[in-house]
Amino acid sequence: MSWDEDARCRDLDPELFFANRPTFERRAKAVCARCGVRDRCLAFALESRAEYGVWGGLTGRERMALISGR
Ligand code: SF4
Repeated sequence: MSWDEDARCRDLDPELFFANRPTFERRAKAVCARCGVRDRCLAFALESRAEYGVWGGLTGRERMALISGR
């Protein structure tokens, strides 16, 4: 079984996670905060260098900053 089968966002509108708008990002992060596979989702996004969307509770900008140590 893949971790994304337990994703809390699984049946939600992807636009919430990829619209790149502060209001949507806050709502997406609230979903991630209560997701049981958040750690695995964030690890996947970091390993795959996903630039866009909220994954694992972080935006693309936040993940890139984490990777670059900023
Ligand atoms: S952490 Fe967020 S983006 Fe990742 S699977 Fe869970 S709800 Fe979806």
